[in-house]
Amino acid sequence: MTQNYYQAELETMAVDERKKLQSEKIVKQVKHVYDNVEYYRKLMDEKGVKPEDIKGIDDLYKLPFLSKADLRDAYPYGLLAKPMNECVRIHSTSGTTGRRVVAFYTQNDVDLWEDCCARAIVAAGGTEEDVCQVAYGYGLFTGGAGLHGGSHKVGCLTLPMSSGNTDRQIQFMNDLGASIICCTPSYAAYIGETLKEQGYKPEDIPLKAGIFGAEPWTEEMRRGIEATLGIKAYDIYGLTETSGPGVAFECCEQTGMHVNEDHFYPEIINPDTGEVLPEGEKGELVFTALDKEAFPLLRYRTRDICVLSRKKCSCGRTLIKMAKPMGRTDDMLIIRGVNVFPSQIETVLLNEGYQPNYQIVVGRVNNTDTFDVNVEMNPEQFTDKVSDVLKMEKSLAGAMKTMLGINPTVHLVAPKSIARSEGKAVRVIDNRKLI
Ligand code: ADP
Ligand code: ZN
Repeated sequence: MTQNYYQAELETMAVDERKKLQSEKIVKQVKHVYDNVEYYRKLMDEKGVKPEDIKGIDDLYKLPFLSKADLRDAYPYGLLAKPMNECVRIHSTSGTTGRRVVAFYTQNDVDLWEDCCARAIVAAGGTEEDVCQVAYGYGLFTGGAGLHGGSHKVGCLTLPMSSGNTDRQIQFMNDLGASIICCTPSYAAYIGETLKEQGYKPEDIPLKAGIFGAEPWTEEMRRGIEATLGIKAYDIYGLTETSGPGVAFECCEQTGMHVNEDHFYPEIINPDTGEVLPEGEKGELVFTALDKEAFPLLRYRTRDICVLSRKKCSCGRTLIKMAKPMGRTDDMLIIRGVNVFPSQIETVLLNEGYQPNYQIVVGRVNNTDTFDVNVEMNPEQFTDKVSDVLKMEKSLAGAMKTMLGINPTVHLVAPKSIARSEGKAVRVIDNRKLI
């Protein structure tokens, strides 16, 4: 299969040549930040690092980290590196962890971000012949705006649907022959479920590809969505702090996401010590924006746990790949002393023939954690025979115990009784903080 690239030269450039480019960029960027962002200048001064100490990308480790706490401290203008009159846009995080941050963009920043999203759309097979349905939320959230801009750059006919109103999504998809859809994986699964209920078979659906991200999802969930919608489902990753989706994207291999490292330089660190880990080791993902002007974060700790790989990719891109994030350092629940990631629960559910419609509820009674998982039955599994339900609950709890090492209490609930999300799904209710 011949490959299409949006920016062939940058995407397939020899690794050492790219390194030269990254080195040139970081030298300039550190100077820009040091001169214009007092907050970061102080952090560098405290660490005893001067801009002239950074002679290339190999010196990056000398720079201080930035964390979400710094972004909150500096809210709203403290990390701005350009005068306000040169900024054209603001976005804000979705507040998954309850704390919003705002990010600023110059026109160049918007262009560069949209180019990254365009790379993702082309890697998913998008061309100017495609109709691209953008069903990420529009507004402060970066999902809608990013893919919308990318779709324009590729020249697709863009359907700016935003999220929600699923019946209208389905109607437009069919009437206008949408061939690519962009949304969160949980919303894609919901659209698929609704289409199935309305009697659509995968071959009746005009879509050929989906670009899904903004939240963790498993391989099992990918297979489920691909089967229901009759498409190839590609992962896309990003965060508001670095611009939005498009920091990394999947190609036809579907084995991890190419990081747009000519713009966003990734590192993996040990989250406890801050030490940079070698390629292939699991740790916290850290990004340095090499080109951004208005909100150029250096060594920003994403809290996403991940692995990087330079293994040669059959698509011809030489951009380093990141594995699916395995959760966030702050997404991880510690239940009765054991680390639990929602993605592990999701894997068990899909392996056991359930849909990933679930909610984890954690509480504390008499100093002991309670751990309940509410799981929806599929319409085919649904039964009101109590002994059958108990049997299914016991078997599912057993499978979760094998995966996690601790025993949850599983409650099977009726189909459609757990609230659906049109954006990012709410998977965890932790009542322990309230006690
Ligand atoms: P918030 O931190 O409020 O959720 P964002 O909306 O910017 O802010 O979300 C960025 C986060 O979303 C990332 O740090 C990551 O945890 C998660 N994320 C984004 N894309 C993916 C993806 N493809 N897979 C897993 N997690 C993702
Ligand atoms: Zn590839």
